[in-house]
Amino acid sequence: MRDELDRSISILQGERPAPLAAAGYPQDSADAGSTLSEADRTEAILHSARGQRDEVLAALVRIDENSYGRCIDCGSEIPEGRLDARPDAARCVGCQAKHARRR
Ligand SMILES: [Zn+2]
Repeated sequence: MRDELDRSISILQGERPAPLAAAGYPQDSADAGSTLSEADRTEAILHSARGQRDEVLAALVRIDENSYGRCIDCGSEIPEGRLDARPDAARCVGCQAKHARRR
C-alpha cells in the first residue's frame, strides 16, 4: 500500500507543470487559467495522496509497536470489518467521527 502511494505521488509530481515554465511564457488568460486549475487539481490529489501515505506510515509504526488494530484515542479494539475497509484506520468509528468533527 505504501509502495503504491509512493508510486502515485512520484507520477503526480512528474505531471505537475514546472512553475517556471508557466510563469516564463506569455499566455492568453484562458490558457493560463486552465493550466492553473489543472495544476491545482494535481496539487489537491498530491496533497491527499501524501496525507494517506502519512496514515499508512503511522499504521506501520503501530504494527511495530504492537498497538495496531487499537483505537489511538480510546484504546478499544477496532473491528476487523473496519480494518478491512481501511487498513490504515487509527481510530474506532466513534472516535473517528469525533475527530472529524473537531477538525
Ligand atoms: Zn476509539
